[in-house]
Amino acid sequence: MRLSRYFMPILKENPKEAEIVSHRLMLRAGMIRQQSQGIYSWLPLGKRVLDKVNAIIRDEQNRAGAIELSMPTLQSAELWQESGRYDAYGKEMLRIKDRQDRPMLYGPTNEEMVTDIFRSSVKSYKDLPLNLYHIQLKFRDEIRPRFGTMRSREFMMKDAYSFDLTREGAEHSYKKMFAAYLRTFDRLGLRAIPMRADTGPIGGDLSHEFIILADTGESEVFCHKDFVGFDIPGESTDFDSVEGLQAIFDKWTSLYAATSEMHDEAAFNAVPEGDRLSARGIEVGHIFYFGTKYTEAMGAKVQGPDGKEHFVHMGSYGIGPTRLVPAIIEASHDDNGIIWPASVAPFDIVVINMKAGDQACDDTCELIYAALSKAGKDVLYDDTDDRAGTKFATADLIGVPFQIIAGPRAVANGEVEVKDRKTGARETMTIEAAINRFVA
Ligand code: ATP
Ligand code: MG
Repeated sequence: MRLSRYFMPILKENPKEAEIVSHRLMLRAGMIRQQSQGIYSWLPLGKRVLDKVNAIIRDEQNRAGAIELSMPTLQSAELWQESGRYDAYGKEMLRIKDRQDRPMLYGPTNEEMVTDIFRSSVKSYKDLPLNLYHIQLKFRDEIRPRFGTMRSREFMMKDAYSFDLTREGAEHSYKKMFAAYLRTFDRLGLRAIPMRADTGPIGGDLSHEFIILADTGESEVFCHKDFVGFDIPGESTDFDSVEGLQAIFDKWTSLYAATSEMHDEAAFNAVPEGDRLSARGIEVGHIFYFGTKYTEAMGAKVQGPDGKEHFVHMGSYGIGPTRLVPAIIEASHDDNGIIWPASVAPFDIVVINMKAGDQACDDTCELIYAALSKAGKDVLYDDTDDRAGTKFATADLIGVPFQIIAGPRAVANGEVEVKDRKTGARETMTIEAAINRFVA
């Protein structure tokens, strides 16, 4: 991508409305724009990161056996009247009427709708287990939207819904998502700790929130510090192995970890003092097992091996991609800007032409840009006629992991500089070596 032809509206000044660093940096880097309170556009740079986050979420959902579909944002109130949540949900639900005066709503979650899809076609235990997910916008008329897309009114959620014949089956489905979440957050460069959580309006009796420790987090959390070093389940994890997933679950729930709603002071005090971590955290995922709550209310039954009809056991599993992007920034930035983990960086490399219009600099940059693009790298080429200092500041701000800097003096020797955004280390090398550094 040539910066001269891209749309990346960088802000020079610190936006006054931003209270936390991720919000400030997302606005300054031109990733998002607020359209009305708690409702955001994702500008091209932000959209690239969001897409990469979603690709990782999708990959791990698929690996764990979940199947993607797409459900609408607008839902008919009827389904919610069946479950009883139309009245119970309160003011967070945006209620709308269509031209025939029929009550509709902008979905805050999809338990009812997915249960409706399920009951319309699944009739036998032989079709179970089943886990259906989508990545879709949600709306919750939050009383206090804040911190940019960290807590917005319209936001994206990956929500998965599992269906099993028995409680045991459903618990295995829950553990699949539990392990998939550990892998997902790890691939996003984050350390998320599963904590026992309250089930809230979704209902049910087994629930974990996945929390990232951060000073700006809205939740107060308490856990054993060893979680910070626990191993993540590997790529070869067998999601069908009941014992294997049980072992992962047991390990990751063996030590104390709870959000303030579930906090048990006495149990926490039983943890040796030096091992206690009491901190603030950002909730990036939340999983629930809630049994037959919705299937009983909505009549979702299947025939079991005994020939009888059984209400199906369900769980639901949410991750917030539009919250994850700022959460990653909270965890990874410095005074100069964002430092993206490679897995979600909007570009892999930025090529900085320090003197656009200088033939040798232009030729060198074009050569590098073409070679790296051809090798499948996402390359941003700063071919604008901004001053070199502005280009360096922009490159640091947007947090691309590597910068290749071409200035007249080095280029005259057939050389460029490669800078690692995270460490700040710079290395001068031949043009060929710089290309091979990323292609080889
Ligand atoms: P919170 O406690 O932060 O209000 P929640 O418990 O209401 O969240 P869930 O219903 O569990 O959220 O939603 C699943 C995930 O969706 C959350 O873990 C979070 O990542 C994301 N999410 C929920 N509400 C918002 C929001 N207002 N803005 C951005 N992401 C959100
Ligand atoms: Mg929650």
